[in-house]
Amino acid sequence: MCGIFGIYGHKDASRLTYLGLYALQHRGEESAGIVAANGGGKVKSHNGMGLVSDVFNEKTIKSLHGNVAVGHVRYSTTGSSISKNIQPFLVAHRKGHIAIAHNGNLVNTRQLRRGMESKGSIFQTSMDSELVVHLIAKSDKKDKEHVIIDALSQLEGAYSIILMLNNTLIGARDPYGFRPLCIGKLDGAYVLASETCALDLIQAKYVRDIEPGEIVFIDNKGLRSIKPFPPQTHASCIFEYIYFSRPDSNIFEKNVYLTRKRLGKQLAKEHPVKADLIMPIPDSGNYAALGFAEASNIPYEIGMIRNHYIGRTFIQPSQFIRDFKVKIKLNPIKDVLKGKRIVIIEDSIVRGTTSRIRVKTLREAGAKEIHMRVSCPPLISPCFYGIDFPTKKELIASNRTIESIKDFIGLDSLKYLSLEGMLKSMLLPKEEFCTACFTGNYPTKLSKKVSKKMLEKN
Ligand code: 5GP
Ligand code: MG
Repeated sequence: MCGIFGIYGHKDASRLTYLGLYALQHRGEESAGIVAANGGGKVKSHNGMGLVSDVFNEKTIKSLHGNVAVGHVRYSTTGSSISKNIQPFLVAHRKGHIAIAHNGNLVNTRQLRRGMESKGSIFQTSMDSELVVHLIAKSDKKDKEHVIIDALSQLEGAYSIILMLNNTLIGARDPYGFRPLCIGKLDGAYVLASETCALDLIQAKYVRDIEPGEIVFIDNKGLRSIKPFPPQTHASCIFEYIYFSRPDSNIFEKNVYLTRKRLGKQLAKEHPVKADLIMPIPDSGNYAALGFAEASNIPYEIGMIRNHYIGRTFIQPSQFIRDFKVKIKLNPIKDVLKGKRIVIIEDSIVRGTTSRIRVKTLREAGAKEIHMRVSCPPLISPCFYGIDFPTKKELIASNRTIESIKDFIGLDSLKYLSLEGMLKSMLLPKEEFCTACFTGNYPTKLSKKVSKKMLEKN
């Protein structure tokens, strides 16, 4: 997963990009970068490992001159977590400068890359995004538009992309529309961002989403849009609503908070429980828990308090850090929980390991009964389109029954929202979504070699 941001035609382009990335920080905490262009052929870049606030300061922002900028926050999926994989990826070549910020995951990278390497191409990183740059650089098409069409038409999989090609800003979404990307305007400048919360922060006005399969070109003549690819059945990532996006964002044109609350209401309808209080596992469970409490007429309490000075548990890929962070992140309030029958609302269960530690601390805090309700169905299949789920083997619901997951986590009862219930709770028609992580039905072809390993059950 990643967050991307771009702006064209503003004197404070890099400062606004910095703020945009700040708003998108939840989409990736591993590295951050900004590339800015001043129109006179000068391009500057600054990036580093860590949070936006660690990577940039007043001085570095000031050094990024120009009216056009692209930014990226990274959460590594394809390509390991090392500094040369930081984005935006910037190169200079015969057609000028190319900078790219990519969110998503391509599924035909291996074939494309092998093909190019056999003809002498040299790759500096292990990122999908570098491949896109190679395709652009190699294209023999004459004009910008056809070069981009030529490059993107060779990609399979998920991409929401912001490109800077010399002084043109380009935004594109793959024909399935897996990942979000929207357009905003600010003082006559155009803004592109993964989520609307980034527009809100800089007080840009939301204009519309880039449509699946659409490419927009923004330059001194304004915004030009093309839709060169054959239309596809849409496959917007439903997990953006379940967990990933910020609740104050509208993605795919619908609000995330309201959707999560509806998921919670539906969950209460499907799996009621006699209890003294409803509580979320903060923060991701907060909104479904509100819906659940409202629909079930059981008081909503906050039974654990989050320490806000650490990042998201899963964002650090190493197992050692993950366990450490689980413990440091949330602290139960004994006086709220003691002797109570509680219902904890989770947005999702991935490996089950965090939940297990949480439930143990809730028992130690004195909860008498612990019931868990999950606001999505069991996750049984890995994601090939950008969500950092583990292999099938590691997804707890792919190998265990719900009863056995209940025992593993240490619960009195465990129920998941149904697939139909989840789809019914969405503010968009169910045909719009990719639900592969819940069903194993992937909307694109997959590379056999990659998928074989990911899909092994044991
Ligand atoms: P588990 O108990 O399965 O170890 O962790 C469940 C927690 O992981 C939930 O609170 C959920 O919010 C969080 N989570 C959900 N999705 C993701 C994701 O994309 N990446 C990871 N891997 N963590 C997530
Ligand atoms: Mg969570």
